[in-house]
Amino acid sequence: MRLSVIGCGYLGAVHAAAMASIGHEVVGIDVDQRKIDALSKGLAPFFEPGLQEILTEGIASGRLSFTTDMGAASGAQVHFVGVGTPQQKDGYAADMTYVNAAVDELIPHLSPGDIVAGKSTVPVGTAATLAERVTPTGATLVWNPEFLREGWAVQDTVDPDRLVAGVPAGPDGERAADILREVYHPSVAKNTPFIVTDYATAELVKVAANAFLATKISFINAMAEIAEVTGADVTQLADAIGHDARIGRRFLGAGIGFGGGCLPKDIRAFAARAEELGRGESVGFLREVDAINMRRRDRAVELVVNAMGGSVFEKKVAVLGAAFKPHSDDIRDSPALDVAVRLHGLGADVIVTDPAAIENARRIHPQLSYAEERDDAIRDADAVVLVTEWDEYRRELPAEHASTLTTGRIVVDGRNGLDADAWRAAGWTYYGMGRP
Ligand code: NAD
Repeated sequence: MRLSVIGCGYLGAVHAAAMASIGHEVVGIDVDQRKIDALSKGLAPFFEPGLQEILTEGIASGRLSFTTDMGAASGAQVHFVGVGTPQQKDGYAADMTYVNAAVDELIPHLSPGDIVAGKSTVPVGTAATLAERVTPTGATLVWNPEFLREGWAVQDTVDPDRLVAGVPAGPDGERAADILREVYHPSVAKNTPFIVTDYATAELVKVAANAFLATKISFINAMAEIAEVTGADVTQLADAIGHDARIGRRFLGAGIGFGGGCLPKDIRAFAARAEELGRGESVGFLREVDAINMRRRDRAVELVVNAMGGSVFEKKVAVLGAAFKPHSDDIRDSPALDVAVRLHGLGADVIVTDPAAIENARRIHPQLSYAEERDDAIRDADAVVLVTEWDEYRRELPAEHASTLTTGRIVVDGRNGLDADAWRAAGWTYYGMGRP
């Protein structure tokens, strides 16, 4: 099938390349000339495992191309819209400028029978409003939310655990769902759940999923706060409650909390939208989820300061991680970088290292020092602070090796990812999050 993908960021670039990898002819369209230049040369503009390979293959096959010209969308049967929906600058709601602009620019290039498939995460009610503009062209709007996880985006796009399509009632909706089944043919062939529903449900599925995940993380972080005043160990607590199949252990890792370009802004936008709908109290708990999450960054900074005797001024602190999570170079609302910036603000000599995100971090926070190599970051450090769970730090940094490089023997584990016993045995003072 011929497809267009409008917006070639973390979602769209992966979606375009993944759709080409399953046999479609795809044009990716973005307003960012720099991104399009890189993608057209087959270069991934950000780090995402497996993306480089499918981009190179797609371009070589002739099935995948990129442009800034919206006119290139004409002739495609399905147009995916995956532009950004960031938090508004002066509030918590989603900024819908990009979605509205992308749809307005696309409309003149639509033909009757085309499908416009919204993938961006949007406030409930958006699709119904956009449909009023799309339907007069003879095209059908569907909402097809995206659940990919950065770091696993290629796999999640090619082989998602479920597909959701919000469609209008009647034959147009049924036809649109059938066309989406053709698009996602490998998933349909292997009986991946494919939920066809109305617009509002499809939009809500996405924000509800993110709200649930954020709540689970903040729940265990709230338990970490209680553990901190009682001497309990939140990791053992999580293991114990996680054995209950109704609860499950995943997303129960206490630490410095969630960040990135999705969860924080999505729960805020959801709460803002619920207020607009007169149901603010229904998701009022999301404000608390957010507050707990932000407090964990304070806690990590406090642990470092206390460990250094009350001041980090002129102390060398190695910060392991900048990306908001491993296997990504995304630093949007990264708790890791936030901790680094705050320590710098307290006068520490902060050296940040990260396997993928240094370039992005340096652009936003040029005031910090960076080291490409982990060992260069920790050399002569007074304290080592783990803030992103990369295997390079969590599994592949033996305490004995760190001891040969650092000056101090203080390790603060902001992700509860290190083997505390091994670090202690090597002579380090270990501080975890919600652990004695
Ligand atoms: P992003 O900022 O990486 O990418 C957005 C892209 O849209 C940018 O490249 C921008 O230049 C482009 N754009 C803006 N206006 C445009 C226009 N008028 N025409 C063409 N292109 C335009 O954002 P992202 O992380 O890819 O997220 C996109 C959407 O997908 C958001 O709604 C997000 O919540 C949702 N989402 C993201 C993820 C994720 O893990 N990143 C997962 C699921 C859903």
